[in-house]
Amino acid sequence: MSDISQGNLPNFQRRVVLFPEALLVFDTHAKIIKVDKHTLKMFGWDNEQEIIGKSCFDLIADKDKENVQQAFQQILQDKNISGLQCDAVKKDGSYLRISANGSVFDDDQGLPEEIIVVLHDITPHLSELEQVREAERQLSEAQQIAHFGSWEWDIISNKFHWTDEMYRLFSLAPQSEVNNDSLMAYVIEEDREKVKNFITQSTIDGAGIVDYRFVDPQNGSIRWFHSRSKTFYDPNHKPLRMVGTVHDVTREKELDQVKTQFLSMASHQMRGPLTTINWHAEMLLQSQSEGLSDTQKKYIQELYNASKRTVRLTNDILTVSELELGKMPFKPEKLSLPKIAKRVLEDYDHKIAEQKINFKEVYSGDLPEIETDLFLLKTIFHELISNAISYTPSEGTITMTISVDPVRPNTFLIAIADTGYGIPKDEKEKIFTKMFRATNAKTKVMGGTGLGLYIIKLILQLNGGEIWFTSEENKGSTFTVVLPFVPKSVGAAIKI
Ligand code: ADP
Repeated sequence: MSDISQGNLPNFQRRVVLFPEALLVFDTHAKIIKVDKHTLKMFGWDNEQEIIGKSCFDLIADKDKENVQQAFQQILQDKNISGLQCDAVKKDGSYLRISANGSVFDDDQGLPEEIIVVLHDITPHLSELEQVREAERQLSEAQQIAHFGSWEWDIISNKFHWTDEMYRLFSLAPQSEVNNDSLMAYVIEEDREKVKNFITQSTIDGAGIVDYRFVDPQNGSIRWFHSRSKTFYDPNHKPLRMVGTVHDVTREKELDQVKTQFLSMASHQMRGPLTTINWHAEMLLQSQSEGLSDTQKKYIQELYNASKRTVRLTNDILTVSELELGKMPFKPEKLSLPKIAKRVLEDYDHKIAEQKINFKEVYSGDLPEIETDLFLLKTIFHELISNAISYTPSEGTITMTISVDPVRPNTFLIAIADTGYGIPKDEKEKIFTKMFRATNAKTKVMGGTGLGLYIIKLILQLNGGEIWFTSEENKGSTFTVVLPFVPKSVGAAIKI
C-alpha cells in the first residue's frame, strides 16, 4: 500500500490490500489518522500533515454534518456503512459530493480501533443529474407561471404521464390516476363531442387543436382550456403515443367576451345613424335628384355606395358578436328552402343582370320543409350568393342546387357552384377564419369584410350543420352546406 503516507502501514496494508480508490482512516473519535494520495488529491491538499489529526467532521459541509455524525454512531454499532452520500469541503472551500463505504476494524483485544472508509467523488454524475433536475424544476415553474401543462399518452398501454402543472390545472391531486374517460366527466357536456373529435382527429391526422370548457372539480368554476396534440406512429402508421399541451385561456376568453360585447354595443349604436344616411342618399338619388348637377349626383352616389358598405360591415359585426356571445335569437319555424332561396335571390337580380351572369336554380321536387330560424337561414343564402356573384367575372355561370343528401339521413344539401376566380391552393385552409380574405379576392373585389363565411360557420354550429368547399383558381368554386331537417340543438347558444 505505497500510497498510505503515515501511521501503522503494515497493519493498514494487511487490512485493505490494494485499493485504487481514495482511502481515509480515522479512530473511534472521528480523528483522521491516515490518508492516501488519492484522498489528498480529491480534497486538494498538498500533503498529509495538513489533515492528519483533524476531525473527519471538519471535512463535511455544514448542511450534512448532522447526518454524518449520526452515520458515524451507526457505523460504530453496525461495524459497516455503505452508500453514505454527503457534500464535503475541499481545501479551497469549494464543495464536492462524495459517496462513502466503510468498515470498523478491531484491535487485538476485539475493541474498535479504526474505521477505514473508501471515498468516491460523485460530483460529475451528480452535476448531470442536478442539471436534469434543474431543467425539470425550471420547466415546472415556467408551466406554473404560464398556466401551461403538458401530457403524454401511451396509446398502447393507455397510460398517461402528466406534468405537475396538469394536475394543478385540472385541480386534481398530484399523480392521481387519469385517463380520457375520467377527464371527459369534467368537460362540460356541450364540448364533449368536440374533445372526442379532437382525440380521434389527432390520431388520424397526426395533430389537433381544440378549445373546450372544463368544470373545476373543487369549486365548480368553468375554465377554458386550449389544447394541442401531436401523434407518433410506428412504421405501419399505427399510432403509438400522443403528446400535447393544455393552456388555461380563461382570461383571454373573458377579455375576448368583453371586446365582443363592446363591438356588439358599438355596431348596434352605429346602425341607426348609418341607416339614416343611407336612406337620405337613396332619396336624393331617386325622386329628388332633378335639381342636382351630374357632379352632385356622382358625389351622392359615392356617398350612398360607401354608406351601404358600412351598413353591411356593421351588420356583419353585429351578427358575429351576437353569435359569439350566444345572444343570437334562434326561433325555428317550418320553411321552404327554395322559397327562401328565391326571396334572397331577388335582392341580387340587379347585380346578376349587370354582370350578365347565367344563374341556374336546381331544386329537387320532393323537398320537405326545414325547421330553422328564418333570419339565420336567409343569412346563409345571402353570404353564399353574394360571394358567388362577387367572385365571378361577367358572363360567368352560377348554379344553386338544393336537394336531400343521398348519404346522410334527414339532411339537405345546398350547393352553390360558380365559374369564378377560385381560391388559391395555399390559402384554402384559412378561408373560414374570421376576417380572412384570399389574396386574389382582395385585388379583384374591394370592400369585402372576410366575415361572411365565418358567420355561416357559427350559424351552422347552432343548426348542427356543416360547410365545405372545393375550388380551383381561375376555374371556380363550389360551396356546399349540409343542414339537418330539424336543428340539433334548438335555441342553444354558442359561445366560442
Ligand atoms: P368577403 O367575401 O366579405 O371577403 P367571406 O367571409 O364571405 O368574406 O369570404 C372570405 C373569403 O373567401 C373571400 O374574401 C374570398 O377570398 C373567399 N371566397 C368566398 N367565396 C368565394 C367564391 N365563391 N369564390 C372565390 N373566393 C371566395
